[in-house]
Amino acid sequence: MTDCIFCKIANKEIPSSIVYEDEDMFCFKDINPAAPVHLLLIPKVHMDSLAHAQPEHQALLGKMMLKVPQIAAEAGLTNGFKTQINTGKGGGQEVFHLHIHILGRPA
Ligand code: 5GP
Ligand code: ZN
Repeated sequence: MTDCIFCKIANKEIPSSIVYEDEDMFCFKDINPAAPVHLLLIPKVHMDSLAHAQPEHQALLGKMMLKVPQIAAEAGLTNGFKTQINTGKGGGQEVFHLHIHILGRPA
């Protein structure tokens, strides 16, 4: 989507602190961290929110969920971490490109 800030970040049109990238997903540091480690994991394909995910996204979303603990461990969150997916205005979502917050304090 051309005017989506997270699509632009994934396309490297807008700079970010990149933590992980593969053909399907992109992880970067949140610009306004709410914890010592605060990362955002996004699919490269645009979808507005979790409520917009379709059956064809099942494998992608599963792959992302399995990647979360690996990314967290590599960020030093070996003692545990929090994940959060804000969905819709009522869920506190501000950027309408699906993203998984990964938050924690290094052990
Ligand atoms: P939401 O409230 O939509 O779940 O979370 C959006 C998150 O994106 C917020 O934590 C906010 O700090 C982060 N964010 C918004 N714009 C940018 C940006 O341009 N770069 C980065 N790295 N993070 C952003
Ligand atoms: Zn997008």
